[in-house]
Amino acid sequence: MEKSEGQKLKAKLFDERKSGWEHLDNDQKTAILDFNNDYIDFLNKCKTERECAKFTEELLIQNGFEQIDKKKTLNPGDKVYYINRKKAVYAAVIGKDMLEEGLNLVGAHIDSPRLDLKPNPLYEDNNLALLKTHYYGGIKKYQWTAIPLVIKGVIAKSNGEIIDINIGEDKNDPIFTITDLLPHLAKNQEKKTLGEGIAGEDLNVLVGSLPYDDEKVREKVKLNILNILNQKYGITERDFTSSELEVVPAFEAKSLGFDASMVAAYGQDDRSCAYTTIRALTSLQNPERTAIALLADKEEIGSMGNTGMSSQNFEVFIAKLLDKTGQNGPNVLEKTFCNSKMLSSDVTSALDPTYADVEERNNAAYLGCGIAFCKYTGHGGKSGSSDANAEFVAKIRNILEKKSLIYQMTDMGKIDVGGGGTIALILANKGIDVIDCGVPVLSMHAPYEVTSKFDIYNAYEVYQAFYED
Ligand code: MN
Ligand code: MN
Repeated sequence: MEKSEGQKLKAKLFDERKSGWEHLDNDQKTAILDFNNDYIDFLNKCKTERECAKFTEELLIQNGFEQIDKKKTLNPGDKVYYINRKKAVYAAVIGKDMLEEGLNLVGAHIDSPRLDLKPNPLYEDNNLALLKTHYYGGIKKYQWTAIPLVIKGVIAKSNGEIIDINIGEDKNDPIFTITDLLPHLAKNQEKKTLGEGIAGEDLNVLVGSLPYDDEKVREKVKLNILNILNQKYGITERDFTSSELEVVPAFEAKSLGFDASMVAAYGQDDRSCAYTTIRALTSLQNPERTAIALLADKEEIGSMGNTGMSSQNFEVFIAKLLDKTGQNGPNVLEKTFCNSKMLSSDVTSALDPTYADVEERNNAAYLGCGIAFCKYTGHGGKSGSSDANAEFVAKIRNILEKKSLIYQMTDMGKIDVGGGGTIALILANKGIDVIDCGVPVLSMHAPYEVTSKFDIYNAYEVYQAFYED
């Protein structure tokens, strides 16, 4: 049927968002599903920032990247990386252009909301052994009770020995949980607000109930647990004080839905962006401009500290690139930043039909409609946002439209219902042109988050296009 004048005009003038799944051919669908199988595998191996850094290092090495400190000089096409304290990754592919003409950076974070053990975590109460936790990042505390949990991380002993801990994922391992009150006796608890129902000090992990067989000692259950840990790892109670032990969901990453079009997993904020970033970087050969991937730690608690994005270690990495390419000199580092462009790749909220009233529909991000750009983040009148320049947003649009990649331009939530921040402003403050973008997520920050397989693959393609520009 012939289109009417109005229909033709509307098609030309309106900006309408479409599902990315429409009009895909079979090859494209296969590429999306294959990529997501690898992504799901990655999520199952990487539930802590240390696991992500280790996995990423192996992937980089497989793709010809070398530790930067092993290289005396660098030339176009060379690939190098640096792992910052086992928790953050910087990787680069050297371009043909001078570095001071600017870098193409994509930055994500590999820390996720979780429960950390307190320095003195283990105690016994009413014949049960429990671990005290201190939550990390923004969580809804009630979501962490009555679910299977695993414990991962390291114990650093004062003699220098590092013990890796990973309990709960092997099928022969026990798991852990945080108990919740039965509904029969929860009359008072249920009168509390959702935010107050479970307090931070209630997030105690149940870890044992067997007493040590000796009539003469008190705290027999705690003693039995310490004895088990001592036999297995050679540690005593004091060794907890120099540990980083994270309690994370035991859930396996899986395909979601009858149509298997989505991914359900813990930690997709922001490992969906981290994985796609590193896959895009490792697919790159001989770029014009030097391409950098940043996988930061500590984003969920403000990006501070020496493994967070604010750390000086990042400047040192770029300075090393300048030194080893023989391009360093007075103020070259600053000039390099001022000429650089960056995608701050961090997930955003996808419109949830059940909670659609927190979103403003024209500017919400929709699952399956591609990577979501946020010109600004922040809260209460863009406070704490770097707000990308119109000219830079236009440049990004040009990069994507040339490759016919779909994307959405979004704003997270209605005004004054909340907000959030990312690493964007830290890099923008150095003079870099930065825009936020990332995979839309349902149930963000929950123990089980949901993404669209289309958006995951689209993010990968968008980062590739950005690196190649
Ligand atoms: Mn994030
Ligand atoms: Mn987050």
